[in-house]
Amino acid sequence: MTRPRTPYRPLDITVPFPELSAYARTATRLHPCPGTPTAADSSVGGPLLWPAAEAWPVCGEHGGAPLLPLAQFHVGDVPDLPPFAPPGTDLLQVLWCPRYAHEDGPFSHFGPYTRLVWRRAAEVTGPLAVPSPPPVTEERYVPVPCVVHPEQVVEYPFADYLPKELDQRIMAWEDELQARIGPSAPWYQYDLSLAPGWKIGGWDSWHRTDLVRVYCDACGTEMRVLLTIDSYEGNGAADSWGRYGDPGRPTGIAVGRDGEYRAFVCPADPSHPHRMSMQ
Ligand SMILES: [Zn+2]
Ligand SMILES: [Zn+2]
Repeated sequence: MTRPRTPYRPLDITVPFPELSAYARTATRLHPCPGTPTAADSSVGGPLLWPAAEAWPVCGEHGGAPLLPLAQFHVGDVPDLPPFAPPGTDLLQVLWCPRYAHEDGPFSHFGPYTRLVWRRAAEVTGPLAVPSPPPVTEERYVPVPCVVHPEQVVEYPFADYLPKELDQRIMAWEDELQARIGPSAPWYQYDLSLAPGWKIGGWDSWHRTDLVRVYCDACGTEMRVLLTIDSYEGNGAADSWGRYGDPGRPTGIAVGRDGEYRAFVCPADPSHPHRMSMQ
């Protein structure tokens, strides 16, 4: 199978709107594809590099049910992961309780309880843990084992993050483009700003609720999106970010109403608890 890549952007949005350059952020699209990842690999749904001597994490809300391995990413594999990694760590592991209802925070009522673990891969030297599966699971929260093909792209913010005046000029420009070119004209939201699919870093979309800024419970700092878990890898048939030749839902994961489930972390202190948000 050919390695999934983002097609050339339909246009460079910083040409008509140079002021957007100040908001550019890189994101790493993970491009998960069904495969047979090992515990040594970055993966979605693969085995975790987890020492047998370390207690397997459990969900406190479901009678100590063991969490399900969701993903792990080596810092060296994912260009946008290093700025998030606490000192001395080089591997991010994500586990979750594959059930719908959790009450571990105001943003997490309607999604799986998640645990983020940072560790140093070289320190895992002994035998690996073989976790027992959680007793009850929702199938849509059980990932298909996937290898990942990280690719760095440039993103621009969801419109609500922009000054109102700039947002309005972008909308007027879109209207003009639609009138001139027709339905194939690109849209800021879907074609030019935010990449769909699983990704690390970049910007967060708020298309379901409008913008809700996420602040750290521990210190009040505005949080940054670390991981986006997406139900689809594309925006549909006319998708400028398209993964031609690949299925739209390679991981089998569907979150919320076929939406996105995002982990936000504190840029001031990586030891502060993360928060989840559904879109
Ligand atoms: Zn649970
Ligand atoms: Zn904080």
